[in-house]
Amino acid sequence: MRRGRKLTILLAAGLGCVAAYAGFARLGAGRIAIRVGTPSGGRVEKSDAEWKEALAAEVYRVTRRGGTERACSGAYWNAHADGEYHCACCGQVLFDAAAKFDSGTGWPSFRQPVDTNAVSHFEDRDVFGVRTEVTCSRCDAHLGHAFDDGPPPAGQRYCLNSAALTFVPRRPESTHP
Ligand SMILES: [Zn+2]
Repeated sequence: MRRGRKLTILLAAGLGCVAAYAGFARLGAGRIAIRVGTPSGGRVEKSDAEWKEALAAEVYRVTRRGGTERACSGAYWNAHADGEYHCACCGQVLFDAAAKFDSGTGWPSFRQPVDTNAVSHFEDRDVFGVRTEVTCSRCDAHLGHAFDDGPPPAGQRYCLNSAALTFVPRRPESTHP
């Protein structure tokens, strides 16, 4: 192989690594993407200062700092009303009450998102071991974690923080003829 061509290949490989690293850095240092959803309506991107200004302290701590609320402390772990759960940061529709089930964990739990593209999955390695972090695909808000011990048939359990969600009751069907 000619020396010039070899250098070109090395340079291209190097740039690829830099691009990959920049992507990870944007989504959070050390996180490895398992599946990144494509949000309908495009992305919402704000600076950390802008999110801090816009969100209530607990919502900011959970969604932008990867916090976890105490079990049985959130607004929705024991909620049964019919409606949709939106992202508390950007408003994207994430989960439907029809997919909610009582997991006995003290956190709101769902069988699946309304659309696989509404959420993204990342590998999350910490003191609890390797878990799957779930984020909003539109604004990267930390929502909670996904596990594979949910009810059949899919067997998924999305274990979420109430603070990351905003419940919107379903509007009753019009009774007018
Ligand atoms: Zn969002």
